Amino acid sequence: MTREIIKLSKSIISDLEKKAVLRILDKEYLGMGEEVANFEKILENFFGKTAICVVNGTAALHLALQAHNIGPDDEVLIQSITYVASIQAITATGAKPIFCDIRKDTLTIDIEDAKKKITCKTKAIMPVHYAGGVGNLDEVYNFAKQNNLIIIEDAAHAFGTTYKGTKVGSFGHTTCFSFDGIKNITSGEGGCVVSSDKNVINKIKDARLLGVENDTQARYSNKRSWEFDVKNQGWRYHMSNIMASIGIVQMSRFEEFILIKKELAKLYFDKLKNFEEIKLLNIDRDNTVMHIFPILLENSFLRNNLKEYLLEKRIQTGLHYYPNHLLSFFKNESSNGLPNTSEIYQKLLTLPFHPDLKTDDINYIVNQLKLFFERNK
Ligand SMILES: *Cc1c(COP(=O)(O)O)cnc(C)c1O
Repeated sequence: MTREIIKLSKSIISDLEKKAVLRILDKEYLGMGEEVANFEKILENFFGKTAICVVNGTAALHLALQAHNIGPDDEVLIQSITYVASIQAITATGAKPIFCDIRKDTLTIDIEDAKKKITCKTKAIMPVHYAGGVGNLDEVYNFAKQNNLIIIEDAAHAFGTTYKGTKVGSFGHTTCFSFDGIKNITSGEGGCVVSSDKNVINKIKDARLLGVENDTQARYSNKRSWEFDVKNQGWRYHMSNIMASIGIVQMSRFEEFILIKKELAKLYFDKLKNFEEIKLLNIDRDNTVMHIFPILLENSFLRNNLKEYLLEKRIQTGLHYYPNHLLSFFKNESSNGLPNTSEIYQKLLTLPFHPDLKTDDINYIVNQLKLFFERNK
């Protein structure tokens, strides 16, 4: 009998989500309406701050940058190892991503390197909360303050993570989340911007609906405006009622997801911490809701073989992420000299991690790692 494949990641969908979607389909009002307002209220309670829902996390970042007036001629500091979405959101505004190195322990932005890359055009920094961990976020905030930079947090991995007792999104200025199918919660696709800045929130409310002024209020009661003005470039980035209905159910299940994910992460850490062939992320496990489970191989030459071996053993793995500064579209003069990035990405491998993973799956994965390393001594 062949073993069922252990997936790297997956959506966690129960009958509750299915029923919620059917309820919206039955109402025959599928677009942005009161269900989105309901989801936003739940998120507002969660963060203690206004949350604006949009069609995906990339749109959330793009709108947040635009609402902070970041555009052509501006530079944004960001680590090269992140999902390409972070970088595309920056270039979508016309601004230029300036690639920074990462810390080897947390794989978050290396502020010492960021310091070297500041110019008179630097307007913002976008810390990426890699795998759900925030690294030394105080250091990022201090650096931004000293240099008068806007901070837009890419918290696509970090929904539910807390830092010094406060949820990511609840502190800070503007924070963006993704609700894509495999993130900590999903609304199918989807995302949100959380901000304490009323001006930013109002701009995003209009910009997500093609710049139509004050359409959001009408939409919340399942109506829309017919006579209106448009003063700025907008996008069709709103969330639909169908998506919001999934997100609402996921929020009701989130405590359970957190418990399972923390247990699974603990299991991996306990079983892998004594492997001399592997390094684990330096992550504050008690306060982090991990989105992915990357490991770093001491010997990068083994990485691709290990990936193949695990797949033969029916274990899917991933690579988070191939550095963006190596991609043709983003290559620029800031792309040189990222020693940690160049070293780390060759050592990276992401193991399966999602709330449907079982203790037995982790035991099996760990055993396969053991066997592989024994053979490749
Ligand atoms: C998923 C992700 C995004 C974008 O979110 P989407 O909902 O997929 O558009 C942005 N940044 C990072 C680091 C991500 O992992």
